[in-house]
Amino acid sequence: MIGRELAEAGIPSLIIDERPHVAGNCHTERDAESGVMIHRYGPHIFHTDSERVWNYIRCFGEFEPYVNRVKATVKGKIYSLPVNLHTINQFFGTSMSPAEARAFIASKARNDIQDPQTFEEQGMKFVGEELYEAFFAGYTRKQWGIEPSELPASILKRLPLRFNYDDNYFNHRFQGMPREGYSKIVETILDHPLIELRRQVRFEDLDESFQHLFYSGPIDRYFNFDLGRLAYRTLDFQMIRAEGDFQGTAVMNYPDSDVPFTRIAEHKHFAPWEAGHLEETVAFREYSRACGPDDIPYYPVNLVGGVDLLKTYQDRASELKDVTFVGRLGTFQYLDMDVTIDRALDVAQAYLKQRAAH
Ligand SMILES: Cc1cc2nc3c(=O)[nH]c(=O)nc-3n(C[C@H](O)[C@H](O)[C@H](O)COP(=O)(O)OP(=O)(O)OC[C@H]3O[C@@H](n4cnc5c(N)ncnc54)[C@H](O)[C@@H]3O)c2cc1C
Repeated sequence: MIGRELAEAGIPSLIIDERPHVAGNCHTERDAESGVMIHRYGPHIFHTDSERVWNYIRCFGEFEPYVNRVKATVKGKIYSLPVNLHTINQFFGTSMSPAEARAFIASKARNDIQDPQTFEEQGMKFVGEELYEAFFAGYTRKQWGIEPSELPASILKRLPLRFNYDDNYFNHRFQGMPREGYSKIVETILDHPLIELRRQVRFEDLDESFQHLFYSGPIDRYFNFDLGRLAYRTLDFQMIRAEGDFQGTAVMNYPDSDVPFTRIAEHKHFAPWEAGHLEETVAFREYSRACGPDDIPYYPVNLVGGVDLLKTYQDRASELKDVTFVGRLGTFQYLDMDVTIDRALDVAQAYLKQRAAH
């Protein structure tokens, strides 16, 4: 995105990636055997509230309407997510109205917790013990590898509880899936005479000099991990091939603690406009674990203790006037695609402004 913005302003750039493909973790490719569009590094759904981002990304590819609806298997039963009136009525075997459900959940909530500090306290206060244990505790334990009582409350604030039948996973105004996949969009963005693209090139191995570097790799890696490594979670994907339809939906979460994976994503359901024509299907069980030196870093783990190390790297980074740290790994933050794009556009504009001033 930054390279394209600079190119539009007449500034040439070199874009590199050590992988053999573009689009980073959003990379998609068609599976030769089944014809399914695979999201190689986990399923990606585009959703945003930003008109600027929505209009920008659609200049580079067509988006199909898509609404993410997630289901959960809990103790052998299927529920609707995020926790909504349907989930509550299914779970408690009731047929409550919105007002009744609100009062019911309020009666379940732990009112003695005034100012929740941990994820567990937040869950107990927010939805009460039964729903918290069924839908949040096990899933969180598997996803982050630590007890919910050790995680900050802020994590749960992102998960909505709804007293209606709205099961759209996201609250954003715009949502969709790229018709030809994300990689095609990124290839189109990079298709500009002022952009040179080199794949399978590590930043460490470049010996050219540049007027400015926009670094979207891991911030600790830029400094050769000399102060230690920041903590990440990585994911293992176990592929399932099947005929027809494997699970009837794109995402099935498995919050139970005794199931080792967190969810199964069946990728053809992310492309409903073509799913009906495909005879075979591909799904992936997703396992989360601590990220080792040779693993792909996925989710930054922002725990107390990790903060000081991050701050030290960030202080050093801020002293480098010709380097801007960007993206998920460069800023060590979980960023959705729309936020990454929004920030990239801001970074490009700020750079162009600064350049014009000199
Ligand atoms: C499992 C999962 C699911 C997600 N689902 C969604 C979703 O549904 N919707 C959504 O909006 N967002 C989602 N995201 C977030 C999305 O992946 C990020 O917003 C996006 O990848 C950020 O782009 P980026 O360019 O910052 O980083 P990345 O996509 O990670 O790209 C960084 C690239 O830098 C390369 N690199 C790193 N270091 C070096 C080096 N030293 N030399 C050369 N190359 C290097 C890497 O190979 C990589 O390709 C999800 C993330 C994960 C982990």
